[in-house]
Formats: sequence, structure tokens, C-alpha cells
Amino acid sequence: MISSIWKKFCNTMLNENFDIQHRLLNILLSISLVLGLVSTAVTMLFFFNSIGNLFSLLLVFLAAVTLLISVKKNNPHLAVIIIVAVGDLMLLPAMYITNGGMKSGVQLWFVLGLIVPLVALKGNKLILPFISGIISAVSCMVLELCRPDLIIHPSNPAAESAKLISSFVFFGIIIGCMFVYQAFSYEEQSKLLIERDEELVKAMKAAQSANNAKSSFLAHMSHEIRTPINAILGMDEMIIRESTDKDVTAYAMNIRSAGNSLLTIINDILDFSKIESDKMDIYTAPYDLSILLRDCYNLVFMRAADKDLKFSFEVDKDTPKKLIGDEFRIRQVVTNLLTNAVKYTPKGSVTMSVGFEGQEDGSIMLIFAVRDTGMGISDEDKGKLFDSFRRINSAQTHKIEGTGLGLAIAKRLIDLMNGTILVESEYGKGSVFTVRIPQKTEDKAVIGSFTPQSPVLPEKKYRERFHAPDAKILIVDDVKINVEVIQELIKKTLICSDAAYSGEKCIELAAKEKYDIIFMDHLMPDMDGEETLNIIRSAKDGPNRNVPVIALTANAMAGAKEKYISMGFSDYLSKPVKGSELEDMLLRFLPAEKVVPYGENDPVRYSKNDIFGLEFLNTRAGISFCCGDISFYKEVLKSFAESDLPDRLCKYYSARDWNNYSVCVHSIMGTSLSVGAEELSAKASAIINALKNDNLSFVKEHHRSFADSCNKLRDRLADYFGEEA
Ligand code: ADP
Repeated sequence: MISSIWKKFCNTMLNENFDIQHRLLNILLSISLVLGLVSTAVTMLFFFNSIGNLFSLLLVFLAAVTLLISVKKNNPHLAVIIIVAVGDLMLLPAMYITNGGMKSGVQLWFVLGLIVPLVALKGNKLILPFISGIISAVSCMVLELCRPDLIIHPSNPAAESAKLISSFVFFGIIIGCMFVYQAFSYEEQSKLLIERDEELVKAMKAAQSANNAKSSFLAHMSHEIRTPINAILGMDEMIIRESTDKDVTAYAMNIRSAGNSLLTIINDILDFSKIESDKMDIYTAPYDLSILLRDCYNLVFMRAADKDLKFSFEVDKDTPKKLIGDEFRIRQVVTNLLTNAVKYTPKGSVTMSVGFEGQEDGSIMLIFAVRDTGMGISDEDKGKLFDSFRRINSAQTHKIEGTGLGLAIAKRLIDLMNGTILVESEYGKGSVFTVRIPQKTEDKAVIGSFTPQSPVLPEKKYRERFHAPDAKILIVDDVKINVEVIQELIKKTLICSDAAYSGEKCIELAAKEKYDIIFMDHLMPDMDGEETLNIIRSAKDGPNRNVPVIALTANAMAGAKEKYISMGFSDYLSKPVKGSELEDMLLRFLPAEKVVPYGENDPVRYSKNDIFGLEFLNTRAGISFCCGDISFYKEVLKSFAESDLPDRLCKYYSARDWNNYSVCVHSIMGTSLSVGAEELSAKASAIINALKNDNLSFVKEHHRSFADSCNKLRDRLADYFGEEA
């Protein structure tokens, strides 16, 4: 019962919807009400004092009314005003005068009256009630001092003392209860805060882990997408190289350009996820600024030319040439700004100024300013420019390719390099992006006058630069198609290759056979490239201990070469592997005696005792028909040397057995094609056509020469193999 009353009391007075001040006021009023009732009852019972008790009763009544207003009407402000107006200014002075002044203890109720506005009101609102309370209390005390005769003392001195004591007790109880409640609610609040804190930490951790999951998903997905793109671009390169059909070549070129765009997007996403998860590192290494500028110029020049834009670089000739910094990331930033300038400029010009400011410590502040006469950026949009995945001015830019990531990445990269980027732009007129990045200088050499090399070289039809049929390489990659791409790219160089799809397999093959070069993927499951390399290098008496090993990597950074060399690799190639870079690498690392240069007009020059001394055969074509397998090619040649096809051909011709004759010519055509006897194969094809059209006179006319060529080839091959034996 008591507990249910207490519960009800708590629910009503200390309702959670009331703020803490409101609740303190309710506590103050309700306790005053209860204690006031008790005290008045007791005084009335023992020490009857009609006027004094009347005012006490009125005060109790006031407490009851204002409590109702505060709780039921939910209007603590009105309650306080009534308390001050009626209580502080009327009832308390009346009680003071009629209950014996200071001796009655009413001054304590004045203090309580002052506490009421302090507890329940805020700011300016509490000044007037508070001052009124003070004036009222002080006036009463001054009155007592000046005119003590006006104060009415109870006839029974015990009643006066009882009032004083009860005032002290009640005042103590009320103030005590308020403090206890305040301490209690402070504790509750602290607990709540701690709980909220913990929840917040939990939520932050959850958000962090979701963010990490997102970043790792993006990184993983980008990596996964790169693998098929590598294959697409690699195989596409083969189409460009081998196709003689103009249309097919044009389609393949389009695939290459779309593939490269896709690769740029994937790289952007990968970079973005690295930045998001704080895994983006800046690698500093020495580099040549003039090469960086030339490459950036060449990369963007064609796009500007396609749009008839004037494209120029203005380079301060005193700018130091050899710098130390993250060349890869600076290239990325500059290329992004130049590409954007070209993309968002329909007509006019794009100009990049390059300069520097010398610093006291000998380093420089490298400054790039990319200026365009394009669509410009409104003041409102400038703030959104570096947000990720945000594209602005969509009415004009929605038809222009873009992800809204480029500038976000550029800004983060510049921050990581301790640089700054500034945008000045006038909507509709153009923009200037100015980047300042501190760089160290390697020496005092200056860049001089900048002349970009002519970038508009028409694409040359691919032609291998050398042959190395005696060379053998090992390609190690856990993704089969990556191996196939490299095999295709080296096909025309006649290099033989083995493939290993894991580190373990690589070690197994490398223990058995000596290779001239090993191309090794860096990131492989189970045993990665570095571990595999270490095992090969440390294998005592291993045939490939000192063989050049080239790392294959999808994430080439500035300083990558130094990184891979420090790991023990001889060099690195970045994926997607480009044919020309692969050939450069092969030319650098293959033993010189195994490389036979093959220029555009150079005849094929092979060593004398080699099987390829057979100048009457197109050995390249033959080996290519045998999938680059030299030993298989030799087998085919040998079987032609030993074959009775030319004899059978003549036999069937003499018997005019055209059916069997035709089968024979077919066989000769196939074999001659696969050994590289192109002329013979062409003759066979002509005879087959004639037979198909019943043109026997053609057959009769050409049979002799065809049979002679056949015999001649067989005899020469037989001689060759005889000599070799
Ligand atoms: P993207 O070009 O892939 O959309 P960016 O992050 O490089 O992404 O650029 C964000 C946006 O900023 C672009 O969509 C474009 O609206 C605006 N912008 C960037 N560079 C320029 C420029 N030189 N002139 C006008 N607008 C630009």
C-alpha cells in the first residue's frame, strides 16, 4: 500500500517528462505541504495562536494550490510567480509579524521562498522574483529592528521556541531532500551517460567495422575486376597485333580505350578505399620532373586535340629537374586536373603553368596551375567539389563521363603530401586549379625550356623486335588467364615458356629446369611471390638460384622498383602487362646470345647450325602454327622429311585417281602450312580449287611444278636431318 502510494507520488511529482528543475520544485512544494500541515496541526493543538496559525494554514493552502498548478497544469513558472507574489510578499511578512519575528524561525521560510525562483526559473526571469523575496525578508527584519513593538509574540514562549525548532527541522528536511534528489538524479544521469557512451562506442565500432568491410569489399572487388580486365586488354592487344582487317582493328582499339577507362575507374575506387581505411601511403623516390610533365602532356594532348582545344604547358625554365617525392601520385593529381580541364571545356584553351618557390632548407614548393576557359564552377558548388562521388553542375556534365571521385582523391593525396589545392573559378568563364606540393631537390640541375615530344605518332602495326627461340621462361601466376596473356604476348618472339599456377608449382619446376627468366606474380594465395622467390634463391645448387626474377604486380606505386629490388626481385612489371614493356624487360634480361634482333627490314638471322638455317621456309610462321613449341615443330618437319606423300601424289596422278590425289594434296597443304612452306601450301590450295571446279587442265598444267616443290622440300629436309644426325 505504502509502496503503491510512493510509486504514485513518484510518477506524478517526478514524472520523467518534467525537467530536473520542475521536479525539484515539486519536491520542495510537496514536502512543504506535508510538513506545513503537520506543523500547523501541532501548533494549533498545543499552542493556540489564532492569527499566526491562520497565516500558516494559508501558506499550506498556497503550497497545495501551486503544487496543483505545477503538476496538473504543468506550469511551474505560474506556480513560482504565485508563490513569490502571495507567499514571499504577503503571507511570509504576515507570519513574521504575527508569529514573533526572528524568534519564530520564519526567516528560514523566507530563504525557502528565495530558493523557489532559483530552482524553477532561468535567466532574466528569476531576477525580479528573487529581488522581491529579498526585499520582503529584509523589510520584515528592518521593521523588527526599528519597531519591535509592532511584532506580535505568542503568549506562550514555548510556542515560539517550538515554531523556531520546527522551522529549522523542516527547512533542513526540505533542503536535504532536494540535495538528496539532486545527487540521485545526477547519479542516474551519469549512469545514463555512461550507458549512452558505451552504446555510442559500440555504434562507432560497428560503423567503423562496416566502413572497413566496405573498404575491404571495394578493394577486393576492384582487385577481382582487374583480373578479367587484364585478360581483356591482353587478348585485345593480340587482336590489334594480328588482325589485318581494318574494321576489326578499329573495334579492338575501341575495346582498348573502353578497357583503359574501366581500369582508371577501378584504380580510382581502389585508391578511394585505401584512403578511406587510412592505408594510402606516400612513397618518395627521386624522379625527373621533365619526364613527368612530358608524359602528362602526351597523355592528355590527344583528348584536347579531339576537341580542338589549344593545349599548352608554360614551364618556368629554372624549375629544378631532379626532385624527390611521390612521382606516381603527383602524376595522378596533375593528370586528373588536366583531364578535367579538357573534359569540362567545350571550346578555348587549357594551359598548365609549372613553377616553384625556393625554400630556406633547399627544398622547393612545386606549383602547378591548370587554367581552362571551360564551363566554370559556381560559388555554391565550390564547396562540394572535393566530396567523394559528387558531380556538380549536372545539367551540363551529365553527358560527360565521370565518377565524381577524381578531385576527392586528388585532394586527399595532396593533403597526404602536405600540399594544398586552391580553386578559382567564374561560372561560365573558366577555372584555375592551383596545386602546391613541397618537394625535395636531388641536385641543382634545372628543367630548361620544356618541349613536349611529338605525341601524335600514328600507331604502328606491331612487329616483334627480336626472336629468342632457344630461350625459355617460367610464368608464375595463380590466375591462368594472366599466364596466357603473357604467353600470347611473347608468341611472336618464339620464346618457349612454362606455366606455374602457384608458388609451390613454381618451386617444383624451378628445381628441375633452368630458365632464362622467371616472371612471378607478387600476390598469390598460400605462398606469395616473395616467399617463392626466397626459396628459389636459397636453394643450394638450384638451377635458377641466380636467374632474373621479375615481379608482376597490379598495384605499382612510386618507389615500386626499389621495393621489389629490396625484396630480391630483379625488376617489376605492372599488370595489365603491356607488350612493349614485356619485350623491353625480355631484351634486358635474356642472355644476349639467345636474342636475335628482328627489325622491320632485317632478314631473320639465325645461327648456322640451327634448324632455322632453312631459309626456304618461313620458320616463324611454322613455329607459330605449332603454338610456339619448337620441339613439336621439329617433329613436324622430320615427319615431312620422312613422309611418302610426294611419292603417293605422283602415283595417284599417274593413275588419274583424282579422289586419292585430292586427299593427298589436302594433306600436303596442311603439313606445308604447319612447317612454314608457304609457297608450297599456296600451290596445293590452287590445285584443290581446280579439282573442286573439275578444272583438270589446270591440275595437269601445274602438277609437275607442285610435285617438284614437294620433292625438293622433302629432300632438303631429309638432307638437313641427315646432316644433323
Ligand atoms: P568527375 O570528373 O569524374 O565527375 P571529379 O571529382 O574529377 O569527378 O570532378 C567533380 C566535379 O567537379 C565534376 O563532375 C565537374 O562537375 C566539376 N569539375 C571538375 N573540374 C572542373 C573544371 N575544370 N571545370 C568545371 N567543372 C569541373
